[in-house]
Amino acid sequence: MPVDPTTEDDAKVCRHASPGRLFIVSGPSGAGKGTLVRALLDRVPGVWLSVSATTRSPRPGEVEGVDYVFLPAEEFDRLIAADGLLEWAEVHGNRYGTLRDPVEERLERGEIVVLEIDPQGAAQVKERMPESVLVFIEPPNFDELRNRLVKRGSETPEQIERRLRTAREELAIAGTYDYVVINDDVEQATEELAAIVTTCARQRHSGQKD
Ligand code: 5GP
Repeated sequence: MPVDPTTEDDAKVCRHASPGRLFIVSGPSGAGKGTLVRALLDRVPGVWLSVSATTRSPRPGEVEGVDYVFLPAEEFDRLIAADGLLEWAEVHGNRYGTLRDPVEERLERGEIVVLEIDPQGAAQVKERMPESVLVFIEPPNFDELRNRLVKRGSETPEQIERRLRTAREELAIAGTYDYVVINDDVEQATEELAAIVTTCARQRHSGQKD
């Protein structure tokens, strides 16, 4: 069940938000996390999106340091060994991880930080930082999810089937998240995500004054 960010349930979640206000936007690939997070950045000023490290190769148009920090496997191994990642996971055959330093620096400065990561990574961060707010982005249904992955054109049919299998497993955990946003209509879903972030940020802020 999606949670209305204006209800009392919501206030309970927000009251536990971290001083730096860390939001984890997760869900199956193809659910539209990337689109919604970009729209969130346009709509809510002062939100910083973490740029992940990955061992996958850049897709056409992707920019180093903007979309991802693209690393060879050995460098990714070195980062893990040096505890340089807040979380990491293997997703569809490639590794992805959140660079610890930039996230912690911004949280210490009291900024609003957003991670757009897969559910395995989301669970790791929630465990390490229980005050973080977990938002699950749910695709409206499987046909729609398949259509989106096909339309994106960046995966082979085998890769698409693999992503859909993972998505089925991931959908089962939506109920454990603080919020669920159904990405049926991008405009409405963006509004819900923005409401969650601004409501939690505001409540956190007034909580600090108490
Ligand atoms: P893509 O290859 O399509 O850019 O991303 C594949 C999946 O990896 C997406 O579900 C995306 O959210 C996830 N992902 C991106 N960055 C990270 C990260 O830093 N950590 C984890 N755990 N997953 C990530």
